[in-house]
Amino acid sequence: MFMKPATAKISSSALKHNIQVIRHKAPKSKIIAVVKANAYGHGVVFVSSTLAPLVDCFGVARLEEALALRSNGIIKPIVLLEGFFSAKDLAILAVNNLQTIVHCEEQMQALEQSTLPNPIKVWLKIDTGMHRLGVHLEQVEHFYQRLKNCKNVLPQIGFISHFSRADELQSDYTQRQLDRFLSVTQGKEQERSIAASGGILFWQQSHLEWIRPGIIMYGISPNDIVGQQYDLKPVMTLTSSLIAVRSHKKGEPVGYGGSWISPQDTQIGVVAIGYGDGYPRNIPMGTPVYLNGRLVPIVGRVSMDMLTVDLGQGCQDKVGDEVILWGKELPIEEIARQTGLLSYELITKLTPRVITEYID
Ligand SMILES: *Cc1c(COP(=O)(O)O)cnc(C)c1O
Repeated sequence: MFMKPATAKISSSALKHNIQVIRHKAPKSKIIAVVKANAYGHGVVFVSSTLAPLVDCFGVARLEEALALRSNGIIKPIVLLEGFFSAKDLAILAVNNLQTIVHCEEQMQALEQSTLPNPIKVWLKIDTGMHRLGVHLEQVEHFYQRLKNCKNVLPQIGFISHFSRADELQSDYTQRQLDRFLSVTQGKEQERSIAASGGILFWQQSHLEWIRPGIIMYGISPNDIVGQQYDLKPVMTLTSSLIAVRSHKKGEPVGYGGSWISPQDTQIGVVAIGYGDGYPRNIPMGTPVYLNGRLVPIVGRVSMDMLTVDLGQGCQDKVGDEVILWGKELPIEEIARQTGLLSYELITKLTPRVITEYID
């Protein structure tokens, strides 16, 4: 008897393949590989050491994430994509050779008023239409001049912005954002970055000097179209196994609340994964899992440690058989589409209880 609990299998060959695909799509651009949120739930130590020889820079959202990369021996440049959160972080950036974006007056003043052991590399974040972070278009010149004059800032300034609708192929908003970005940075350093995954896949003219792939490196598309359509390979396969196969009578309910009642005699499979592993509790009934070459529906409520599937009468499935929640056989984009959840959310919500297994 051998039953495996919830396990994320992570493929380094898929990761390397996806980087090749990205390089091919944007051959003239350098790559900031975005590995925030534990490399989108894929394990930041493994992902960053696999990617280090293949990319030009790493992007993270928190100082702690950047320091974790440094303590794992990553010496490539690292950018804090939201900048620093406290003036006293600046000395830590300087000694750890971390780059930062500056998106607001408070960060600008902290930079101007600090005394640092060495100057740091700064990217000015420009709001071109996302309206979340970044200086307004009419403030760009003013911030640029202050950065140029700041003793704590290295002479080569970068410019960065972010699309809000790059995954919408029909929207003209992306081109408008790009036009604003190009016009406001004209005549300044040609070190510009606006394209994340959506921009890389769908807006070739937005690639510029630096691209910032996140989700597509992990083989997942930024919208509902399955990544395999763009030649991407899913890096993660989320698996578990059957820990019980039970005969079940017509008219009997399954699980908490008795929310599903079987319309016929059947076999119920119990799978060792639940919301305690990060599998969403509120998925619609009927969401599929992949098992022994076919899709079977989840029935009844997802509980903390388990979920139940309807295997059908006369099934051949046995305790210990592998169940795939998402992966090559069952694209996560398909689960996202059927559940109304984002792929981004599904992968980053996995909990530390899930075992990570590195394959190939
Ligand atoms: C997260 C993030 C990215 C990566 O986005 P994807 O859609 O996953 O490619 C790029 N740039 C910034 C600033 C980010 O915060």
